[in-house]
Amino acid sequence: MKPPHCDRAGAAGAGAWGWGAVWWEGGGVPSFVYDALPGRIVFGAGAARTALAAEVERLGMSRLLLIASERDAGRGLTAPFAGRVAAVFTAVREHVPVATAEAAREAAAGADGVLCVGGGSAVGAAKAVALTTRLPILAVPTTYAGSEVTPVWGLSDGGVKTTGTDPAVLPRTVVYDPELTATLPPELATASALNALAHCVEAFWAPRRNPVSSAVAEEGVRALAAGLRDGDPAQLLLGAYLAGSAFAVAGSGLHHKLAHVLGGLGMPHARTHATLLPHVLAFNAPGSPEATARVARALGRDDVGRDDAVAGLHAVTAAAGIPRGLAELGLAEDRLDEVVERTLPAVPADNPVPVDAAALRRLVRAAWAGQAE
Ligand code: NAD
Repeated sequence: MKPPHCDRAGAAGAGAWGWGAVWWEGGGVPSFVYDALPGRIVFGAGAARTALAAEVERLGMSRLLLIASERDAGRGLTAPFAGRVAAVFTAVREHVPVATAEAAREAAAGADGVLCVGGGSAVGAAKAVALTTRLPILAVPTTYAGSEVTPVWGLSDGGVKTTGTDPAVLPRTVVYDPELTATLPPELATASALNALAHCVEAFWAPRRNPVSSAVAEEGVRALAAGLRDGDPAQLLLGAYLAGSAFAVAGSGLHHKLAHVLGGLGMPHARTHATLLPHVLAFNAPGSPEATARVARALGRDDVGRDDAVAGLHAVTAAAGIPRGLAELGLAEDRLDEVVERTLPAVPADNPVPVDAAALRRLVRAAWAGQAE
């Protein structure tokens, strides 16, 4: 009997969840493995002002390295425990160049913990420190990037980005405060929210997907769509947390493999994700009807048809003023072959639609031109 929501019609023995998951005869639940990640979440308006000192105390941090941009270091959040801040590192950079990681590690000498306040770039620098020092991280995100709930680190060097997974870089505590993300300029807020949306969408087909990560991802899409519609930082931040959590468990698939290569080429992180996402969803849609149905359901848009996830995503990105193609974001046409070559070996074997060089080239060109394949 074909399972009721098998993504790949006729896929022998493997259901929607991949890695040979088997369906319980007569039921709609696949076998699955779910590695829950540890971490304490404190969420609330004003939490960075009212709860941070107690969380520093709770982690027993007495000689902190504060990692934050000049702007975020200037928010005054450490005033209640200023005596515990031993050093401040403000030279955060997107995609954590190796030189940035080394400088942050030097600044961490003598520290017993890292407090990072900022977007994925500040969290990334904190992770680079934890990777070699094993110092605990307390994270206070100011964007919707979601890095604060993943054990994934990234470093870039000479146009190439390297990532890896290490439990030591997963922040012990995250303080989410929507008052902080409320200061994001509108275009950046939207791009960042769409970066979070990409985590949710990808979680439906990424290699370690399971019913728990998919449920979290669907709720994440719903919160992000509501937040984008209503301009509500609290909904967006909740969605970003759910998105990061789903992605951290499910892993990285075709979309992130492409974004990763583009990031190494210096493309802006959040806006690249936002532009790329509808194209990757369109590419994978024929092989993942359940994922697309869940995305469409969570987006819940009447204007483009409630069952059309790709049109729904295009409508969300268009309303946000996100470019339809990577060319508009500055990717030169003569880099497309390189993007294909670098991405192809990293694409998971169980991507919902088979990916060979020709198919990937079509996808990359369509995403570059901003047109349907
Ligand atoms: P970012 O941290 O570089 O921030 C983008 C810009 O917004 C910066 O200029 C920053 O100073 C500014 N900014 C941040 N918060 C602000 C606020 N509240 N108000 C006003 N301005 C603000 O960008 P990002 O998209 O958050 O993070 C991108 C980085 O994070 C990339 O290096 C990416 O690879 C990494 N990342 C890693 C993971 C992971 O799991 N490892 C996940 C997502 C992103």
